[in-house]
Amino acid sequence: MTSRNEELFARAQKHIPGGVNSPVRAFRSVGGTPLFFQKGVGSQVQDADGKWYTDYVGSWGPMILGHAHPEVIAAVQEAVVDGLSFGAPTEREVEIADLLCEMVPSLDMVRLVSSGTEATMSAIRLARGFTGRDILVKFEGCYHGHADHLLVKAGSGLLTFGNPSSGGVPAGTVETTMVLSYNDPQGLAEAFKAHGDKIAAVILEPVVGNMNLIAPTPEFLKALRELTAQYGAVLIFDEVMTGFRVDLKCAQGLFGITPDLSTFGKVVGGGMPLGAFGGRREIMEKIAPLGPVYQAGTLSGNPIATAAGLATLKLIRAPGFHAALTAKTKALCDGLVAAARKHGVAFAAQNVGGMFGLYFAERCPGTYDEVLACDKDAFNRFFHAMIDAGHYFAPSAFEAGFVSAAHSDAEIAATVAAADAWFAQQS
Ligand code: PMP
Repeated sequence: MTSRNEELFARAQKHIPGGVNSPVRAFRSVGGTPLFFQKGVGSQVQDADGKWYTDYVGSWGPMILGHAHPEVIAAVQEAVVDGLSFGAPTEREVEIADLLCEMVPSLDMVRLVSSGTEATMSAIRLARGFTGRDILVKFEGCYHGHADHLLVKAGSGLLTFGNPSSGGVPAGTVETTMVLSYNDPQGLAEAFKAHGDKIAAVILEPVVGNMNLIAPTPEFLKALRELTAQYGAVLIFDEVMTGFRVDLKCAQGLFGITPDLSTFGKVVGGGMPLGAFGGRREIMEKIAPLGPVYQAGTLSGNPIATAAGLATLKLIRAPGFHAALTAKTKALCDGLVAAARKHGVAFAAQNVGGMFGLYFAERCPGTYDEVLACDKDAFNRFFHAMIDAGHYFAPSAFEAGFVSAAHSDAEIAATVAAADAWFAQQS
């Protein structure tokens, strides 16, 4: 008997390429039929067959309060009846801009957009316009959205420019993108020595969540801040994933580094399409209409998205919110590692605040190559066993996972118990 998920996926493939509107949803990496979700409540999501799962994806990060939080839903319902979009300024935009600048000390000004991709794309254009330079430095394994110049893989040698990693991206577009290794301060110093007067910006995920999870070393963060300051390049923290997720003051607050520009998405919109970028006033004043760098959006600062974002940001400011979220996420990681160890399975896990990485490897990786060396087949088998048992992890060995404030200790213990049962079968 075909399930409703299978029926929907078969139907979806007729008019939607690959049956999905964003590629990782298609389960290509793990195999099998993607789950179509129809409902979410707190930590739980329900698929089209009516089966419930404890959700460790949380829409890839935004759902930090869990699904359908009553106060967020009420804020959206209240906003909806007043109209969906005006293409003119609204009061909530001012309110959320004030709040973001108050919560994140590096922000003197912010501009709202509708996705993480737009936030990073715009911040990079702004950094180039501000410095009058062209070269962008990014790091292998970091994802910053799907703008042309960011879809790039490392060139053949150190300090060479990148090659497109997607069809449809002209080689000329990535000629000014340089791809370096994450957590390699020496490589960064060499790049600045060779090209320092042409580097407009360095962009990074301050905790990488797009190659499983990689934490930055203190030496790497220090080199980033010192070298960009020394050579007059703009340091951009892409906090689309880490923002308000790893700490109330974001990754920059957690690590004590002040970037020049920051980008946000996910949590900032509480599940609605909202992103933001912001930073130093003298840079932000280069954006149109104040300055020569063009940036715009019909739906930017959308009244419903700002309502969801404001409600979410206000709730996560509750005292102890991030300490509790971090403790829950750590309990999940520690529980899984202890279970794997008991059964002799090579497995590691770690969290930074409310995001985590799971690795089928002896220890947590620190580099892109170490992530690639993890046992992907073991992850895929684990993933499907957990789906069967009602626990939904990211459908790829190369993505971080997320815990929400709605996850109870009992739900986390149940997930650990299900993993324990699967680890036992492996030994
Ligand atoms: N930057 C980072 C760090 C991300 O994780 C993502 C999305 N996963 C993006 C940018 C792009 O955001 P969006 O998908 O909202 O365009």
